[in-house]
Amino acid sequence: MEQYNNYINSVWRQSRSQRTFNNISPANKNDIIGEFPESNIADLEEAVTASKFAYDKWKRMPAPKRGDILRKAGDIFAERKDELAKIMTREMGKPVFETKGDIQEAIDTCYYAATETRRLFGHNTPSEMPDKMNLSFRVPVGICGIITAWNFPIAVPSWKIIPALAAGNVVIFKPSEDSPLSANVFAEIMEQAGLPKGVFNVLHGATEIGEAIVNHPDINLIGFTGSTDTGKSIASKCGSLNKKVSLEMGGKNAQIVMDDANIELAIEGALWGAYGTTGQRCTATSRVLLHSSIYDKFIEIFKERVKKLKLGDGLNPKTDVGPVINQKAIDKILKYIEIGKSEGANLVFGGKRADNGYNRSDDNFDLNNGNFIQPTLFTGVTKEMRIFQEEIFGPVLSISKFDTLEEAIELSNSVNYGLSSSIYTNNVRNSWVAVRELEAGITYVNAPTIGAEAHMPFGGVKGTGNGHREGGWTVFDIFTEWKTVYIDYSDKLQRAQIDNYDE
Ligand code: NAD
Repeated sequence: MEQYNNYINSVWRQSRSQRTFNNISPANKNDIIGEFPESNIADLEEAVTASKFAYDKWKRMPAPKRGDILRKAGDIFAERKDELAKIMTREMGKPVFETKGDIQEAIDTCYYAATETRRLFGHNTPSEMPDKMNLSFRVPVGICGIITAWNFPIAVPSWKIIPALAAGNVVIFKPSEDSPLSANVFAEIMEQAGLPKGVFNVLHGATEIGEAIVNHPDINLIGFTGSTDTGKSIASKCGSLNKKVSLEMGGKNAQIVMDDANIELAIEGALWGAYGTTGQRCTATSRVLLHSSIYDKFIEIFKERVKKLKLGDGLNPKTDVGPVINQKAIDKILKYIEIGKSEGANLVFGGKRADNGYNRSDDNFDLNNGNFIQPTLFTGVTKEMRIFQEEIFGPVLSISKFDTLEEAIELSNSVNYGLSSSIYTNNVRNSWVAVRELEAGITYVNAPTIGAEAHMPFGGVKGTGNGHREGGWTVFDIFTEWKTVYIDYSDKLQRAQIDNYDE
């Protein structure tokens, strides 16, 4: 079996723990991708020592020079796009056209961050004193511990790592144990781009090394993407350590469809939003809220479209929906389907593991060897139901009915999450009222709940986030501190708030 290593100080090495874990393709349990190190505290100490040494030089490199390296990384991501997309699909399952999009997000992020290194604007302000000047500018935070989920193995890490590096920080990255190979290719690309040694390190493993990173006193910031439960526990630890922490967590996103909407467009959006990435997106459309006058018509057409989705290997271009990530995910999704049935929701399609009798992209591909679940559709879902409230993170969509825009907004907002939201309408008033009232970090008008662009703020409110935004210019608020400077050239002592107000 192929053996893979950690990446510390530009050296590929095994863990001091001597322990490993297997990376298995979710599409085929017989396809073992390789063995990865289960890192421990000794590995972390080595990575921290290397990072500290590297930080001293990296933070002093002129920011546009750092940007040149990141631009080069973007070029290499583009050159290796096809190869990396196949690796990602093999290890986490989503179809290759989606993994290509995942890499494009990293390319865009590299190019955007590279240009931002020529801005990283601060502020000059007048002083309240004569012959004095005030300014403030951004400085790096230090060593950043980056911990991420597996569903966007390149895009999501890039949203954190690239701007962190652009701002002059150094990074210790712990990818998900379900997508470790993509992280190693990420490290290869950073090295190929010319990143100095120790500036970017990768430690593999799960909770043990994740917790060690969070607890390490010399790691100044934690950037986390994952479930709300894990994020909350990390945040409370960071609170007690007085450590900066940015959290991107779960979602329960709703698409509202008004009676005046383009129904065909709304159906297309809901299909892509609900079943793309097998519903395993933080921004997945897991609820569709339909105006009562179009409710039956929408469901009738939508159900037929769901039936046509082909399951299979994401490497096959005919596949619409890939597997779910692992056995734990299968158990959780099937449990929620049972909950939905017992709560009285109508299961109108799917609801089971998919076997070879299901609509496949290739008749010779054995669905029984992979983690395949039928795209599932519930109607008649009410807001008290757990399938309406809780994140399932799988190919399960709940449809509910409303009569007025106010009711739709109230339904959309009546969950503990607040990442993405959407409204389909051709009425200007409806769209702007929804934009104003929906409690979510992102609102799409006439588009599904997914589709972030690298140069725009990304993140959520309520149970989804803790007040930070990745993407665009706002990500630099996470990865920088402010330095405030007063320059007094009056050649005398000027006492602020005293001398300038002395009568
Ligand atoms: P998870 O919380 O189980 O794991 C996320 C990461 O945290 C993994 O690398 C894991 O090893 C690590 N981890 C787990 N326990 C830890 C601990 N105690 N201390 C430190 N690290 C720990 O999440 P998951 O199942 O991998 O991912 C799915 C979740 O991620 C969903 O809830 C989804 O909505 C969310 N997600 C959010 C966004 C976003 O941007 N908001 C993007 C992608 C995924």
